[in-house]
Amino acid sequence: MDSDSRLCNHPGCDTYDSRSLYDGLVAHGLIIPSGEPGVFGRNAVFEDVLERFAALVGRTAAADGAEKFTFPPTLARPVFERSGYMKSFPQLAMGVVSFCGCSPTEHARLNERIAAGQAYDDLLQPTGVVLMPAACYPVYPSLGGRLPAGGRLVDMTHWVFRHEPSDEPTRMQAFRVREFVRAGAPADVVAWRDTWLQRGLDLLRTLGLPAEAEVASDPFFGGAGRMLAANQREQKLKFEVVVPVISAESPTALCSFNYHQDYFSKSLDILQADGEPAHTACLGFGLERVAMALFRHHGFDPAQWPGAVRARLWT
Ligand code: ZN
Repeated sequence: MDSDSRLCNHPGCDTYDSRSLYDGLVAHGLIIPSGEPGVFGRNAVFEDVLERFAALVGRTAAADGAEKFTFPPTLARPVFERSGYMKSFPQLAMGVVSFCGCSPTEHARLNERIAAGQAYDDLLQPTGVVLMPAACYPVYPSLGGRLPAGGRLVDMTHWVFRHEPSDEPTRMQAFRVREFVRAGAPADVVAWRDTWLQRGLDLLRTLGLPAEAEVASDPFFGGAGRMLAANQREQKLKFEVVVPVISAESPTALCSFNYHQDYFSKSLDILQADGEPAHTACLGFGLERVAMALFRHHGFDPAQWPGAVRARLWT
């Protein structure tokens, strides 16, 4: 596909690179910088694209009859601790701190330090919550006990937070994920994952995006993490659907599929209807990334996008 012909003709918007995408999004008013890398506003046009893609995912999944859950972007610390996130990705977690409000003297000291541009972190304390590190984490504890026959399927859209400050526009500190979690018999869970792998490819390809599926691994921390990543690849527990957005050689993951086997079931006692341990899997679409891929491939003005793409989204 000659995707170059579809790129925007705004100066600097004609290559697969991080800078031109960021500058193009800003120049067209689609994102609004905040001064902190990876944290920016989105305008109405960006949000419209994002929401219409999310609606298309919803239409694709409609016949599956998923239960819909919504959790706030704050995850209770005990749920976070049980998830094992700190064992694997301590570098990405983001806690929430608060001033303890103990005394007027300390409050005065806090404001003096802020006014003087000095560090004041020692006057803040951890709270009972962390920012949501993965869209599906709050769901697993609610699945504990025996599942109904056929298992369960949950649909959610959550803000996700990662401590990865970066000027690369697709690597955000806060973004939304449309995610599904399937829990049930191992064969059912794998079949569901495989169905969605094909659906994910089809969904993105019908939007004119050159999507491919590949075996992937998570960014596990440290030396031991390399072994975990190798193991994850070897067992094909993680797949991604990727599309070139900021690089032709290293395409960006727009959708990721994780098969956890009995990882969550063991610690949370999630059982099949017959009492056997259940397996779980999840899949998530990075909604901002999909919107950015569409802007990259079809230009920064959705009114000018190919008719077939517009027809899929603006039905
Ligand atoms: Zn997940």
